[in-house]
Amino acid sequence: MSDTVKNYIKFISENKTERECVKSAIRMAEKAGYRNIEEFETLTAADKVYTTVYGKAIVLFEIGTNPIEEGMNILCAHIDSPRLDLKMKPLYEKNGIVYLNTHYYGGIKKYQWVTMPLAIHGVIAKKNGEVVEVRMGEEDDDYTFAISDILPHIAQEQMKKSASEFIPGESLDLVIGLNREEEKDAGKNAVLSVLKEKYGISEDDFLSAELEVVPAGRAKYLGLRKDMIIGYGQDDRVCAYTSLEAVLEHKKAKRTCCCILVDKEEIGSVGATGMDSLLLENALSEVLTRFGGCDEMTRIRRTLKNSYMLSSDVNSALDPLNMDLYDEANSSKLGGGIVFNKYTGSRGKSGASDANAEYIAKLRKAMDDNKVAFQMADMAKVDVGGGGTIAKFAAWYGMSVIDSGVSVLSMHAPFEITSTFDIETAKQCYLAFLDME
Ligand code: MN
Ligand code: MN
Repeated sequence: MSDTVKNYIKFISENKTERECVKSAIRMAEKAGYRNIEEFETLTAADKVYTTVYGKAIVLFEIGTNPIEEGMNILCAHIDSPRLDLKMKPLYEKNGIVYLNTHYYGGIKKYQWVTMPLAIHGVIAKKNGEVVEVRMGEEDDDYTFAISDILPHIAQEQMKKSASEFIPGESLDLVIGLNREEEKDAGKNAVLSVLKEKYGISEDDFLSAELEVVPAGRAKYLGLRKDMIIGYGQDDRVCAYTSLEAVLEHKKAKRTCCCILVDKEEIGSVGATGMDSLLLENALSEVLTRFGGCDEMTRIRRTLKNSYMLSSDVNSALDPLNMDLYDEANSSKLGGGIVFNKYTGSRGKSGASDANAEYIAKLRKAMDDNKVAFQMADMAKVDVGGGGTIAKFAAWYGMSVIDSGVSVLSMHAPFEITSTFDIETAKQCYLAFLDME
């Protein structure tokens, strides 16, 4: 198995939140010779820099030898994944069980999240300015958490409801403790004293916290030949990780190479750490200001307009057990290589970013010249559904952008399935893309 696949399994097992991904990305980047852009007064060809946004998004640049206004080659992927966030006042006790109340984030099938081991990852920011990192209930702890469900024996009414209704969002509350009969009032208070001891926090500190409930445990190979991977958050860390590896490994850029790992895609790319913000423009202006000269705004616009981007996000893999949802010839197959989607969106391509034919031709040539296996695909049959990605926010600058990524089976489930061949191919694709002129 290639190092990329092994390191990928380790990465997604250990980094389950956007903050954890950014921290690890910084560690990997610094090892590869990247420095925080704040350390530079001027920049020149071959310099490698990064900048972060609230610890939840990161933008890396490898400065090329060509004038930057001729455009950059940009790899973009997101590092947030569907999950359950703790509410602001999450802790309560009911009939002897202590719960944490949650509010789900992104598109989930709620029934998939009950009766399985769940962990809590995130941060608690205290009034004194200290930010405490929290990681509880993982495989290497001797405890975990879970959400309960009704036993089948008395679930007649529940089973009559539609799948979108039978687990109400408000019932996705995490069991974290018990008030045992022999102890008086020990439930909630006992949980709080464990948290006090472990993290030095009190109940009020939940008010300023970002705590994410995610599936516990590590990613694993799937299948006897270990040719697939099952793990949490492969949408879109499978593209994010391979993009990052490619840009860190890449050498001697002609066109400036850029890698953007962003947050909030799963809820519409909104906010300061999502792609529908000035994040990229702000990062680029930090680069351009270090080249000196004037009229920075024009240079930003020109650079972005002349750039190429792979807006990488996972694609729904053809599911042999549900063929009625897919147009076989226009679907991506698990193990079929990197996927390009000319367009995304739903119904009559609503909300799509539709890539230019000329740009696709250029990509086809780059893939073929470098012997990279690729497939062109739609998400599914016309009118069965769809979704948007971050490509449209890049297209807003006038750059050439296409949706690309790795095929995933059971996307958005707590544990998603990918193919090791596709992961290796994604990295080869990204390396070939970074050399594109
Ligand atoms: Mn995605
Ligand atoms: Mn998604």
